[in-house]
Amino acid sequence: MNMTILDEIKQNKILLADGAWGTFLQAKGLKPGECPELWNITHRKDVLDIAESYLLAGSDIIETNSFGGSIFKLSQYGLGDRVSEINQAAAAISREAAGKKKHVAGSVGPTGKMLLTGDVTEKELYDAFREQAVALEKGGADIIIIETMTAIDEASLAVRAAKENTKCTVIVTMTFTRTPKGEYRTMMGVSPEEMVRSMKEAGAQIIGSNCGNGIEDMTGIVKAIRAADNEIPVIIQANAGLPELIDGKTIFRESPEMMASFVPELIKAGANIIGGCCGTTPEHIREIGRKIGS
Ligand SMILES: [Zn+2]
Repeated sequence: MNMTILDEIKQNKILLADGAWGTFLQAKGLKPGECPELWNITHRKDVLDIAESYLLAGSDIIETNSFGGSIFKLSQYGLGDRVSEINQAAAAISREAAGKKKHVAGSVGPTGKMLLTGDVTEKELYDAFREQAVALEKGGADIIIIETMTAIDEASLAVRAAKENTKCTVIVTMTFTRTPKGEYRTMMGVSPEEMVRSMKEAGAQIIGSNCGNGIEDMTGIVKAIRAADNEIPVIIQANAGLPELIDGKTIFRESPEMMASFVPELIKAGANIIGGCCGTTPEHIREIGRKIGS
């Protein structure tokens, strides 16, 4: 890589991330109950096609098909002994599409385990995140993105594991919803301010929010992050609205134009990287990119 993502942000560039992978895989035929990450081995071309679609749409950062790639998630499919292979393959696919000029962000999602209930120990969680992050770097990721987090303790361990065992830039995003009082909290009760404090302490270099209700709430979240810290780069990856179940199909209603219309206020509030989450497509990313460039 010529420049790290942090170098590019320092030049006051607003960067374009990519859109959804999970819903894209479903559109390509991933069945309920199938392991999405195994597609890195069994459906390599389809996964590569997703990465390439986002590059064509203008993304500066391409994620990897490894959101559920921890030993805990893969074990649910009897694939717990293939963590390294599957994550390395995920990163190699995105790197093949991205070449040397664009960034590959290795996706790390929640393990589904809770420290709170004694389900798992801190060491077990840390080791799981380390194993995944190391494999993603080995496959070609220059960034690790820990995303859709709701618990501070799990997110902190993930950030530390990535920071202490790879040379990658570490991004962390948490998922918030708006309370009736108009505040933002994760499912575990974390505020944006608490996220900033704890994630910086753990070593995160870029902080933000992903998934959730839709792009409209993201401006308030960016403002809350910026009120807590005026320096740290901020990433926003919103869903294309709330998922709705229609005729047994999950639909996301926010159009590319609708989502892109929020880009100027997100940038004004202090966002440095903008992309999409569930339900967003290359068309959404292209429109968001157009607005960033305008
Ligand atoms: Zn999402």
